[in-house]
Amino acid sequence: MRAHEAARPRERVTIALEGVTVVDVVRGEIVGPRTVTIRDGKIAAIDTPDAAAVPPGAQRVDGHGRFLIPGLVDMHVHLFNNATKRAPNEWTFPLFVANGVTGVREMAANATSMPLIERWRAQAAAGELIAPHVLAAGVVVNGKTLEESRRQVREARAAGADFIKVFSHVREPHWRAILEQARTLRMPVCGHVPAEVTLLESAAAGQRSNEHLTQLYEACSTVEARSLRARKGRDGDTIVKLRDAQEREVLASFDQLACERTATALANAQQAQVATLVLSHFEARGPRADYAGDARFAYLRADEQARWHRILKQGDFGGPNAARRWEVSRQIVATLHAAGVRILAGTDAPMPLVYPGFALHTELQLLVESGLTAAEALRAATIWPAEFLGMNETSGSVDVGKRADLLLLDANPLSDISHTQRIHAVVLDGRLLDRADLDALLQPSR
Ligand SMILES: [Zn+2]
Repeated sequence: MRAHEAARPRERVTIALEGVTVVDVVRGEIVGPRTVTIRDGKIAAIDTPDAAAVPPGAQRVDGHGRFLIPGLVDMHVHLFNNATKRAPNEWTFPLFVANGVTGVREMAANATSMPLIERWRAQAAAGELIAPHVLAAGVVVNGKTLEESRRQVREARAAGADFIKVFSHVREPHWRAILEQARTLRMPVCGHVPAEVTLLESAAAGQRSNEHLTQLYEACSTVEARSLRARKGRDGDTIVKLRDAQEREVLASFDQLACERTATALANAQQAQVATLVLSHFEARGPRADYAGDARFAYLRADEQARWHRILKQGDFGGPNAARRWEVSRQIVATLHAAGVRILAGTDAPMPLVYPGFALHTELQLLVESGLTAAEALRAATIWPAEFLGMNETSGSVDVGKRADLLLLDANPLSDISHTQRIHAVVLDGRLLDRADLDALLQPSR
């Protein structure tokens, strides 16, 4: 297995996790002790210790006093630097895995990125590469004409994209053409709510997810209709610039009742929200003066360190409204969650200060600070992403027959969500990485 040459090659052997407490994320309960047997990349059996028959030759792991949860999923990451023409972010893989992030959703691929994603998937499956599963990859569509938009959707489909990613500057007619073409090809459309439509219009039109609470701030304000009217019919870049200029007023006019009405409608329309609270959090807090002295900074590849320096040294990282945005974002998440809107855990790594892998644990803590229980925060990174991606038959919980992507923790995450960071071992696709293996993954990038 290759991960910056840190870990040894590893065959898949049968693994027996003995005496573990299994965390049932769906019910929010613990069950144990159990012996969990893993074979051929899957959970083969979950038995009480007296009923368990540990197969001869199995790799035995002492799970007494330890807690088993499903591998975590980061629903918003960037593995490509297509705009800046830099190499793909393979350097992030060991960081994700060392932090128990066994699955990611890639948010801005090109059609030309897809063969490399397929290669990563094949190498990871063969045990040649330590990397999270790229559970879904979205190809960005931004045609200048309606026909070009439709053609880009078809090309993305042909290239193997799992979904279509849209950004804020996509004009409404083009966005509707994208949705229509994607629907005929049975492809989901996800991304930012285009700045020319309201959040609830995007949900009603079938956009499956919204990232970073885009336009939710506006939908939770008293100025949504007026703000949108001022943007209608302009060109894409102007629309986005105008929306940014309107942000101060939008945030100042946050209205709890409007937010509750929006949340109820959103829950009915079933559009998932990937809030990326960790990004708003760091935008509000800004970098510490000695941010490059953070031990994790050395894990970034040199070109990424340079990008962070460039962005962070400009100052005003999150713009003038970052503090207020952060405050409002937590109120919005609390309101959405209370209304039953699905919140999915995502980080936008590797945005500056958003360390791949590490940041997902911060996101879970911020979700709990915004009103989710620890069990709900765990669901936001396990079974809910699995359901969203249509993969809940094979992943998202600790159940027999599911893929063996697991975290063995030294403390109960239901009693304190920060315990997801106390990782004793990771099972990635049926292969055990113990604490020493995980530490070996955390190497300065070259
Ligand atoms: Zn992003």
